[in-house]
Amino acid sequence: MSLSAYRPPEDPGLWEAFLERLERTLKVAQVHPTTLEYLAHPKRLVTVSLPVVMDDGKVRVFQGFRVVHDIARGPAKGGVRLHPSVTLGQTAGLAAWMTLKAAVYDLPFGGAAGGIAADPKALSPRELERLVRRYTAELVNLIGPDMDILGPDLGTDQRVMAWIMDTYSMTVGSTVPGVVTGKPHALGGTEGRDDAAGLGVALVLKELARRQGLPLEGAKVAVQGFGQVGGSFALHAQRMGLKVVAVSTGRGAIFQEEGLPVEEILVHYEATGELPRYDLAPEELFALPVDYLVLAALEGALDGEVAKGVRAKAVLEAANFGLTLEAEAYLLGKGVLVVPDLLTGGGGLLASYLEWVQDLNMFFWSEEEVRRSFAKSVAKAVAEVCGKAEALAADLRTGALALALERVNEATRLRGVYP
Ligand code: GLU
Repeated sequence: MSLSAYRPPEDPGLWEAFLERLERTLKVAQVHPTTLEYLAHPKRLVTVSLPVVMDDGKVRVFQGFRVVHDIARGPAKGGVRLHPSVTLGQTAGLAAWMTLKAAVYDLPFGGAAGGIAADPKALSPRELERLVRRYTAELVNLIGPDMDILGPDLGTDQRVMAWIMDTYSMTVGSTVPGVVTGKPHALGGTEGRDDAAGLGVALVLKELARRQGLPLEGAKVAVQGFGQVGGSFALHAQRMGLKVVAVSTGRGAIFQEEGLPVEEILVHYEATGELPRYDLAPEELFALPVDYLVLAALEGALDGEVAKGVRAKAVLEAANFGLTLEAEAYLLGKGVLVVPDLLTGGGGLLASYLEWVQDLNMFFWSEEEVRRSFAKSVAKAVAEVCGKAEALAADLRTGALALALERVNEATRLRGVYP
Protein backbone atom coordinates (compact mmCIF):
# COMPACT_ATOMS: atom_id res chain seq x y z
CA MET A 1 0.00 0.00 0.00
CA SER A 2 1.23 3.47 -0.85
CA LEU A 3 0.02 5.36 2.24
CA SER A 4 2.70 6.39 4.71
CA ALA A 5 1.45 4.64 7.81
CA TYR A 6 2.31 3.18 11.19
CA ARG A 7 3.51 -0.45 11.03
CA PRO A 8 2.99 -2.70 14.04
CA PRO A 9 6.08 -4.68 15.08
CA GLU A 10 4.35 -8.03 14.61
CA ASP A 11 1.10 -9.52 13.32
CA PRO A 12 -0.12 -6.50 11.33
CA GLY A 13 -3.25 -8.50 10.32
CA LEU A 14 -6.17 -6.33 11.32
CA TRP A 15 -4.21 -3.08 11.14
CA GLU A 16 -3.40 -3.93 7.50
CA ALA A 17 -7.05 -4.86 6.96
CA PHE A 18 -8.01 -1.38 8.19
CA LEU A 19 -5.41 0.34 5.94
CA GLU A 20 -6.61 -1.64 2.93
CA ARG A 21 -10.21 -0.61 3.49
CA LEU A 22 -9.16 2.98 4.16
CA GLU A 23 -7.10 3.23 1.00
CA ARG A 24 -9.82 1.70 -1.15
CA THR A 25 -12.39 4.21 0.08
CA LEU A 26 -10.17 7.21 -0.65
CA LYS A 27 -11.10 6.86 -4.29
CA VAL A 28 -14.62 8.06 -3.49
CA ALA A 29 -14.53 9.82 -0.08
CA GLN A 30 -13.48 13.41 0.49
CA VAL A 31 -10.66 13.07 3.01
CA HIS A 32 -7.99 15.72 3.55
CA PRO A 33 -4.35 14.52 3.57
CA THR A 34 -4.00 15.75 7.17
CA THR A 35 -6.87 13.51 8.31
CA LEU A 36 -5.29 10.63 6.47
CA GLU A 37 -2.01 11.18 8.29
CA TYR A 38 -3.91 11.10 11.59
CA LEU A 39 -5.87 7.97 10.71
CA ALA A 40 -2.82 6.09 9.45
CA HIS A 41 -1.05 6.55 12.81
CA PRO A 42 -2.77 5.49 16.05
CA LYS A 43 -2.66 8.24 18.65
CA ARG A 44 -1.35 6.02 21.44
CA LEU A 45 -0.17 2.41 21.58
CA VAL A 46 0.44 0.89 24.98
CA THR A 47 1.86 -2.54 25.79
CA VAL A 48 1.88 -3.66 29.42
CA SER A 49 3.30 -6.67 31.21
CA LEU A 50 0.83 -8.20 33.63
CA PRO A 51 2.29 -10.37 36.37
CA VAL A 52 -0.31 -12.65 37.93
CA VAL A 53 0.05 -14.95 40.91
CA MET A 54 -1.46 -18.18 39.64
CA ASP A 55 -3.40 -20.52 41.91
CA ASP A 56 -0.35 -22.79 42.24
CA GLY A 57 1.64 -19.86 43.68
CA LYS A 58 3.82 -19.34 40.59
CA VAL A 59 3.92 -15.97 38.85
CA ARG A 60 3.06 -15.77 35.17
CA VAL A 61 3.41 -12.62 33.09
CA PHE A 62 0.77 -11.92 30.43
CA GLN A 63 0.85 -9.22 27.77
CA GLY A 64 -1.84 -6.57 27.59
CA PHE A 65 -2.52 -3.80 25.08
CA ARG A 66 -4.55 -0.63 24.78
CA VAL A 67 -4.59 1.40 21.60
CA VAL A 68 -6.27 4.77 21.22
CA HIS A 69 -6.61 5.31 17.51
CA ASP A 70 -8.23 8.73 17.08
CA ILE A 71 -10.05 11.20 19.32
CA ALA A 72 -11.16 13.85 16.84
CA ARG A 73 -14.87 13.22 17.53
CA GLY A 74 -14.74 12.57 21.28
CA PRO A 75 -13.19 10.50 24.05
CA ALA A 76 -11.80 7.14 22.96
CA LYS A 77 -14.13 4.15 23.27
CA GLY A 78 -13.68 0.46 22.67
CA GLY A 79 -13.78 -3.05 24.00
CA VAL A 80 -11.29 -5.29 25.78
CA ARG A 81 -10.64 -8.67 24.19
CA LEU A 82 -9.40 -11.71 26.08
CA HIS A 83 -8.13 -14.27 23.62
CA PRO A 84 -4.85 -16.05 22.91
CA SER A 85 -4.67 -14.39 19.46
CA VAL A 86 -4.56 -10.82 20.83
CA THR A 87 -1.59 -8.77 19.57
CA LEU A 88 -0.73 -5.09 19.28
CA GLY A 89 -1.44 -5.12 15.53
CA GLN A 90 -4.83 -6.78 16.01
CA THR A 91 -5.71 -4.28 18.74
CA ALA A 92 -4.66 -1.33 16.56
CA GLY A 93 -6.88 -2.56 13.73
CA LEU A 94 -9.87 -2.93 16.05
CA ALA A 95 -9.21 0.51 17.56
CA ALA A 96 -9.25 2.12 14.11
CA TRP A 97 -12.47 0.25 13.37
CA MET A 98 -14.06 1.74 16.51
CA THR A 99 -13.18 5.25 15.29
CA LEU A 100 -15.14 4.54 12.13
CA LYS A 101 -17.98 2.57 13.74
CA ALA A 102 -18.66 5.40 16.18
CA ALA A 103 -18.68 7.84 13.25
CA VAL A 104 -21.16 5.70 11.24
CA TYR A 105 -23.54 5.82 14.22
CA ASP A 106 -22.71 9.51 14.77
CA LEU A 107 -21.65 8.86 18.38
CA PRO A 108 -19.37 11.47 19.99
CA PHE A 109 -16.54 8.97 20.48
CA GLY A 110 -13.09 8.39 19.13
CA GLY A 111 -11.83 4.86 18.67
CA ALA A 112 -9.89 2.57 20.98
CA ALA A 113 -9.45 -1.13 21.64
CA GLY A 114 -7.68 -3.24 24.20
CA GLY A 115 -6.85 -6.81 24.90
CA ILE A 116 -4.93 -9.37 26.85
CA ALA A 117 -3.23 -12.32 25.17
CA ALA A 118 -4.72 -15.07 27.34
CA ASP A 119 -7.31 -17.80 27.17
CA PRO A 120 -9.93 -16.91 29.80
CA LYS A 121 -11.24 -20.50 29.78
CA ALA A 122 -7.82 -21.76 30.89
CA LEU A 123 -7.79 -19.48 33.96
CA SER A 124 -9.58 -19.96 37.28
CA PRO A 125 -12.04 -17.20 38.23
CA ARG A 126 -9.54 -15.85 40.78
CA GLU A 127 -6.68 -15.84 38.25
CA LEU A 128 -8.89 -14.09 35.72
CA GLU A 129 -9.87 -11.46 38.27
CA ARG A 130 -6.24 -10.79 39.23
CA LEU A 131 -5.30 -10.50 35.54
CA VAL A 132 -8.09 -8.05 34.72
CA ARG A 133 -7.45 -5.94 37.81
CA ARG A 134 -3.73 -5.72 37.06
CA TYR A 135 -4.51 -4.75 33.45
CA THR A 136 -6.78 -1.96 34.68
CA ALA A 137 -4.24 -0.78 37.26
CA GLU A 138 -1.51 -0.56 34.60
CA LEU A 139 -3.72 1.71 32.49
CA VAL A 140 -5.25 3.77 35.28
CA ASN A 141 -3.70 7.11 34.25
CA LEU A 142 -4.66 6.64 30.61
CA ILE A 143 -8.34 5.72 30.95
CA GLY A 144 -11.37 7.51 32.36
CA PRO A 145 -14.91 8.55 31.45
CA ASP A 146 -13.75 11.57 29.45
CA MET A 147 -10.50 10.05 28.20
CA ASP A 148 -10.79 6.40 27.21
CA ILE A 149 -13.80 4.26 28.06
CA LEU A 150 -13.49 0.48 28.13
CA GLY A 151 -16.19 -2.03 27.22
CA PRO A 152 -16.83 -5.68 26.40
CA ASP A 153 -15.49 -7.66 23.46
CA LEU A 154 -14.67 -11.29 22.76
CA GLY A 155 -13.94 -13.15 26.01
CA THR A 156 -15.08 -10.39 28.38
CA ASP A 157 -18.43 -10.02 30.11
CA GLN A 158 -20.30 -8.10 32.81
CA ARG A 159 -18.20 -9.65 35.55
CA VAL A 160 -14.98 -8.43 33.91
CA MET A 161 -16.48 -4.95 33.42
CA ALA A 162 -17.36 -4.87 37.14
CA TRP A 163 -13.73 -5.64 38.09
CA ILE A 164 -12.49 -2.89 35.76
CA MET A 165 -14.95 -0.40 37.26
CA ASP A 166 -13.98 -1.37 40.81
CA THR A 167 -10.22 -1.35 40.24
CA TYR A 168 -10.31 2.05 38.55
CA SER A 169 -12.61 3.46 41.23
CA MET A 170 -10.50 2.15 44.12
CA THR A 171 -7.35 3.59 42.58
CA VAL A 172 -8.70 7.08 41.93
CA GLY A 173 -10.56 7.12 45.23
CA SER A 174 -14.16 7.55 44.10
CA THR A 175 -16.81 5.47 42.35
CA VAL A 176 -16.61 6.11 38.59
CA PRO A 177 -19.16 4.02 36.65
CA GLY A 178 -18.49 5.85 33.36
CA VAL A 179 -14.97 4.44 32.86
CA VAL A 180 -16.41 1.23 31.49
CA THR A 181 -19.63 0.10 29.80
CA GLY A 182 -21.35 -3.27 29.72
CA LYS A 183 -21.42 -3.32 33.53
CA PRO A 184 -24.01 -5.11 35.64
CA HIS A 185 -27.12 -3.01 36.16
CA ALA A 186 -26.42 -2.64 39.88
CA LEU A 187 -23.17 -0.79 39.07
CA GLY A 188 -24.58 1.68 36.57
CA GLY A 189 -25.03 -0.62 33.61
CA THR A 190 -27.82 0.25 31.23
CA GLU A 191 -30.94 -1.73 30.55
CA GLY A 192 -30.62 -3.61 27.29
CA ARG A 193 -26.82 -3.78 26.99
CA ASP A 194 -26.48 -7.56 27.19
CA ASP A 195 -28.34 -8.38 24.00
CA ALA A 196 -27.68 -5.06 22.27
CA ALA A 197 -25.18 -6.39 19.74
CA GLY A 198 -27.62 -9.07 18.55
CA LEU A 199 -30.61 -6.75 18.65
CA GLY A 200 -28.63 -4.24 16.60
CA VAL A 201 -28.04 -6.84 13.87
CA ALA A 202 -31.73 -7.74 13.85
CA LEU A 203 -32.82 -4.10 13.64
CA VAL A 204 -30.34 -3.36 10.84
CA LEU A 205 -31.85 -6.29 8.93
CA LYS A 206 -35.38 -5.10 9.64
CA GLU A 207 -34.63 -1.55 8.45
CA LEU A 208 -32.88 -2.77 5.32
CA ALA A 209 -35.74 -5.14 4.59
CA ARG A 210 -38.21 -2.27 4.91
CA ARG A 211 -36.17 0.01 2.64
CA GLN A 212 -35.25 -2.56 0.02
CA GLY A 213 -38.30 -4.84 0.06
CA LEU A 214 -36.43 -7.90 1.38
CA PRO A 215 -38.38 -10.75 2.99
CA LEU A 216 -38.59 -11.10 6.78
CA GLU A 217 -41.57 -13.24 7.78
CA GLY A 218 -40.53 -16.88 7.34
CA ALA A 219 -37.19 -15.93 5.71
CA LYS A 220 -34.41 -18.41 6.48
CA VAL A 221 -31.31 -17.38 8.35
CA ALA A 222 -28.08 -19.18 9.28
CA VAL A 223 -25.96 -17.77 12.09
CA GLN A 224 -22.23 -18.44 12.33
CA GLY A 225 -21.20 -18.01 15.97
CA PHE A 226 -23.34 -18.47 19.07
CA GLY A 227 -21.70 -16.09 21.55
CA GLN A 228 -22.98 -12.73 22.84
CA VAL A 229 -23.77 -11.54 19.31
CA GLY A 230 -24.93 -14.69 17.50
CA GLY A 231 -27.04 -15.98 20.37
CA SER A 232 -28.96 -12.78 20.97
CA PHE A 233 -29.36 -12.15 17.24
CA ALA A 234 -30.88 -15.62 16.75
CA LEU A 235 -33.41 -14.90 19.48
CA HIS A 236 -34.38 -11.47 18.13
CA ALA A 237 -34.51 -12.80 14.56
CA GLN A 238 -36.95 -15.49 15.65
CA ARG A 239 -39.09 -12.92 17.48
CA MET A 240 -39.15 -10.86 14.28
CA GLY A 241 -40.64 -13.83 12.42
CA LEU A 242 -37.53 -15.15 10.70
CA LYS A 243 -36.80 -18.86 10.63
CA VAL A 244 -33.41 -19.57 12.21
CA VAL A 245 -32.44 -22.82 10.47
CA ALA A 246 -28.83 -23.16 11.65
CA VAL A 247 -26.45 -21.86 14.28
CA SER A 248 -22.83 -22.88 14.82
CA THR A 249 -19.90 -22.77 17.20
CA GLY A 250 -16.28 -23.64 16.45
CA ARG A 251 -17.23 -27.30 16.98
CA GLY A 252 -20.07 -27.61 14.51
CA ALA A 253 -23.54 -26.50 13.50
CA ILE A 254 -27.06 -27.54 14.40
CA PHE A 255 -29.41 -27.48 11.42
CA GLN A 256 -33.16 -27.86 11.12
CA GLU A 257 -34.88 -26.96 7.87
CA GLU A 258 -38.20 -25.97 9.51
CA GLY A 259 -36.51 -23.70 12.07
CA LEU A 260 -34.66 -24.26 15.37
CA PRO A 261 -36.09 -23.82 18.89
CA VAL A 262 -33.69 -20.96 19.63
CA GLU A 263 -34.68 -20.40 23.26
CA GLU A 264 -34.15 -24.07 24.15
CA ILE A 265 -30.78 -24.10 22.44
CA LEU A 266 -29.72 -20.96 24.30
CA VAL A 267 -30.64 -22.52 27.65
CA HIS A 268 -28.70 -25.67 26.76
CA TYR A 269 -25.69 -23.66 25.56
CA GLU A 270 -25.69 -21.52 28.70
CA ALA A 271 -25.65 -24.62 30.89
CA THR A 272 -23.16 -26.76 28.96
CA GLY A 273 -21.21 -24.53 26.56
CA GLU A 274 -22.30 -26.91 23.80
CA LEU A 275 -25.05 -27.04 21.20
CA PRO A 276 -27.57 -29.88 21.81
CA ARG A 277 -26.22 -31.73 18.75
CA TYR A 278 -23.94 -31.20 15.78
CA ASP A 279 -25.50 -31.89 12.38
CA LEU A 280 -22.91 -30.17 10.20
CA ALA A 281 -19.23 -29.26 10.25
CA PRO A 282 -18.78 -25.54 11.07
CA GLU A 283 -17.88 -24.56 7.48
CA GLU A 284 -20.92 -26.37 6.03
CA LEU A 285 -23.14 -23.66 7.51
CA PHE A 286 -21.80 -21.13 4.98
CA ALA A 287 -23.22 -23.11 2.04
CA LEU A 288 -26.78 -23.54 3.32
CA PRO A 289 -29.58 -22.35 1.00
CA VAL A 290 -30.84 -19.47 3.16
CA ASP A 291 -31.98 -15.91 2.67
CA TYR A 292 -29.56 -14.45 5.21
CA LEU A 293 -26.17 -15.55 6.44
CA VAL A 294 -24.99 -13.78 9.60
CA LEU A 295 -21.30 -13.77 10.52
CA ALA A 296 -21.08 -13.47 14.29
CA ALA A 297 -17.79 -15.16 15.12
CA LEU A 298 -14.20 -14.12 14.45
CA GLU A 299 -12.59 -11.90 11.82
CA GLY A 300 -11.86 -13.38 8.42
CA ALA A 301 -14.36 -16.22 8.87
CA LEU A 302 -15.58 -15.88 5.30
CA ASP A 303 -12.69 -15.82 2.82
CA GLY A 304 -12.54 -15.98 -0.97
CA GLU A 305 -12.65 -19.77 -1.04
CA VAL A 306 -15.60 -20.12 1.37
CA ALA A 307 -17.46 -17.36 -0.50
CA LYS A 308 -17.71 -19.59 -3.59
CA GLY A 309 -20.07 -21.91 -1.70
CA VAL A 310 -22.36 -19.20 -0.29
CA ARG A 311 -25.98 -19.50 -1.40
CA ALA A 312 -27.49 -16.79 0.81
CA LYS A 313 -29.08 -13.73 -0.80
CA ALA A 314 -27.49 -11.44 1.77
CA VAL A 315 -24.53 -11.69 4.14
CA LEU A 316 -24.65 -9.66 7.33
CA GLU A 317 -21.23 -9.05 8.82
CA ALA A 318 -21.82 -8.70 12.57
CA ALA A 319 -18.23 -9.57 13.58
CA ASN A 320 -15.60 -6.91 12.99
CA PHE A 321 -13.73 -7.76 9.75
CA GLY A 322 -15.90 -10.89 9.40
CA LEU A 323 -15.31 -11.33 5.67
CA THR A 324 -12.24 -10.67 3.58
CA LEU A 325 -12.30 -8.09 0.78
CA GLU A 326 -11.74 -10.92 -1.70
CA ALA A 327 -14.84 -12.70 -0.41
CA GLU A 328 -16.81 -9.49 -0.56
CA ALA A 329 -15.77 -8.74 -4.16
CA TYR A 330 -16.82 -12.26 -5.17
CA LEU A 331 -20.21 -12.02 -3.43
CA LEU A 332 -20.98 -8.54 -4.78
CA GLY A 333 -20.13 -9.83 -8.27
CA LYS A 334 -22.75 -12.53 -7.75
CA GLY A 335 -25.36 -9.97 -6.73
CA VAL A 336 -25.29 -10.92 -3.03
CA LEU A 337 -26.06 -8.03 -0.69
CA VAL A 338 -23.21 -7.56 1.81
CA VAL A 339 -24.09 -5.55 4.91
CA PRO A 340 -20.81 -4.33 6.44
CA ASP A 341 -19.63 -4.66 10.04
CA LEU A 342 -19.46 -0.90 10.65
CA LEU A 343 -23.25 -0.87 10.26
CA THR A 344 -24.34 -4.42 11.19
CA GLY A 345 -22.12 -4.64 14.26
CA GLY A 346 -22.82 -1.21 15.74
CA GLY A 347 -25.38 -2.28 18.36
CA GLY A 348 -22.88 -2.99 21.14
CA LEU A 349 -21.14 0.33 20.75
CA LEU A 350 -24.44 2.18 20.49
CA ALA A 351 -25.75 0.63 23.72
CA SER A 352 -22.41 1.45 25.36
CA TYR A 353 -22.91 5.07 24.39
CA LEU A 354 -26.38 5.09 25.96
CA GLU A 355 -24.91 3.56 29.12
CA TRP A 356 -22.11 6.13 29.29
CA VAL A 357 -24.57 9.02 28.90
CA GLN A 358 -26.64 7.66 31.79
CA ASP A 359 -23.51 7.17 33.92
CA LEU A 360 -22.35 10.74 33.34
CA ASN A 361 -25.75 12.04 34.39
CA MET A 362 -26.25 9.50 37.18
CA PHE A 363 -29.80 9.28 35.87
CA PHE A 364 -31.07 6.00 34.50
CA TRP A 365 -33.66 5.27 31.85
CA SER A 366 -36.31 2.57 31.69
CA GLU A 367 -35.78 -0.35 29.34
CA GLU A 368 -38.44 1.10 27.08
CA GLU A 369 -36.63 4.44 26.85
CA VAL A 370 -33.34 2.72 26.08
CA ARG A 371 -34.92 0.49 23.41
CA ARG A 372 -36.66 3.43 21.77
CA SER A 373 -33.51 5.54 21.56
CA PHE A 374 -31.54 2.50 20.37
CA ALA A 375 -33.97 1.65 17.56
CA LYS A 376 -34.06 5.29 16.44
CA SER A 377 -30.27 5.46 16.15
CA VAL A 378 -30.07 2.15 14.26
CA ALA A 379 -32.70 3.34 11.77
CA LYS A 380 -30.81 6.63 11.31
CA ALA A 381 -27.49 4.84 10.71
CA VAL A 382 -29.09 2.49 8.15
CA ALA A 383 -30.71 5.42 6.34
CA GLU A 384 -27.49 7.43 6.28
CA VAL A 385 -25.33 4.53 5.08
CA CYS A 386 -27.87 3.65 2.37
CA GLY A 387 -28.09 7.31 1.39
CA LYS A 388 -24.32 7.62 1.09
CA ALA A 389 -24.02 4.38 -0.88
CA GLU A 390 -26.74 5.54 -3.27
CA ALA A 391 -25.12 8.97 -3.70
CA LEU A 392 -21.83 7.30 -4.59
CA ALA A 393 -23.50 4.53 -6.61
CA ALA A 394 -21.46 2.15 -4.48
CA ASP A 395 -21.92 -0.86 -2.20
CA LEU A 396 -22.92 -0.50 1.46
CA ARG A 397 -19.38 -0.95 2.80
CA THR A 398 -18.08 1.86 0.65
CA GLY A 399 -21.05 3.96 1.77
CA ALA A 400 -20.42 3.27 5.47
CA LEU A 401 -16.68 3.93 5.20
CA ALA A 402 -17.15 7.12 3.20
CA LEU A 403 -19.74 8.41 5.67
CA ALA A 404 -17.45 7.67 8.62
CA LEU A 405 -14.33 9.10 7.01
CA GLU A 406 -16.05 12.32 6.03
CA ARG A 407 -17.35 12.77 9.59
CA VAL A 408 -13.91 12.20 11.11
CA ASN A 409 -12.44 14.47 8.46
CA GLU A 410 -14.80 17.29 9.38
CA ALA A 411 -13.94 17.06 13.09
CA THR A 412 -10.20 16.88 12.36
CA ARG A 413 -10.43 19.93 10.09
CA LEU A 414 -12.39 21.98 12.62
CA ARG A 415 -9.99 21.15 15.44
CA GLY A 416 -6.84 21.89 13.46
CA VAL A 417 -3.41 20.62 14.39
CA TYR A 418 -2.09 21.34 17.88
CA PRO A 419 0.12 23.31 18.60
N1 GLU B 1 -16.50 -4.54 21.20
C1 GLU B 1 -17.60 -3.80 20.69
C2 GLU B 1 -17.48 -3.66 19.18
O1 GLU B 1 -16.62 -4.24 18.57
C3 GLU B 1 -17.79 -2.44 21.31
C4 GLU B 1 -17.21 -2.29 22.66
C5 GLU B 1 -17.75 -1.13 23.46
O2 GLU B 1 -18.93 -1.10 23.65
O3 GLU B 1 -16.94 -0.30 23.86
O4 GLU B 1 -18.26 -3.00 18.56
